[in-house]
Amino acid sequence: MTQQTEAKAKAGAVIIPVTLFEQNCTLIWCEATRKAAVIDPGGDVDKIQAAIKQSNVSVEKIWLTHGHIDHVGGAAELRDALKVGIEGPHLADKFLLDNVVTSGARFGMTGVRDFAPDRWLDEGDRVSVGELTFDILHCPGHSPGSVVFFNKQMRFAHVGDVLFNGSVGRTDLPGGDHATLIKSITDKLLPLGDDVGFICGHGPGSSIGQERMTNPFLTGAM
Ligand SMILES: [Zn+2]
Ligand SMILES: [Zn+2]
Repeated sequence: MTQQTEAKAKAGAVIIPVTLFEQNCTLIWCEATRKAAVIDPGGDVDKIQAAIKQSNVSVEKIWLTHGHIDHVGGAAELRDALKVGIEGPHLADKFLLDNVVTSGARFGMTGVRDFAPDRWLDEGDRVSVGELTFDILHCPGHSPGSVVFFNKQMRFAHVGDVLFNGSVGRTDLPGGDHATLIKSITDKLLPLGDDVGFICGHGPGSSIGQERMTNPFLTGAM
């Protein structure tokens, strides 16, 4: 199942749920150039390739929000198939990318590989595809090397597993820390503005304002 979304007229995006974790692999493209990036190809690479073909776009980048298996399991395979570079996550998630095979084995995911990205990302970095530019925010807590991609003009962010519609990322995995996660959200995501819409790693997206006002982890109800 793929669902079509539109972040203003300048970009298009398709969400491709992948792996047994129903992770929101996101194909995002610049409408002017039809150049695209694949965010978090966690697995099911055939399904991702079919979505690329159907969208009639040219993929130039693979972007990773963090190092968990459901987000990176298909990255090395897709890089080989498309001959494009991998950008992200932050270097602090290197221990996860060094153990993709071990993590995958726990969930019966075969054919995955340990790998290094072509470029680690850090706070203040920028990535671009076509005419779209995204600012990188380093948001540790769910994993130490989680990054968020923010497009200022489109008022749009891809937040990975940092923030969800009505929830926040789990912090019981290696390197996770709840207080650090809440600090990342309050210091870096909430200031982006209530009007900023986002796609997250699992489930439906939301907006910063919606979460600021109703998310129990941010309102103090939890
Ligand atoms: Zn995760
Ligand atoms: Zn995830």
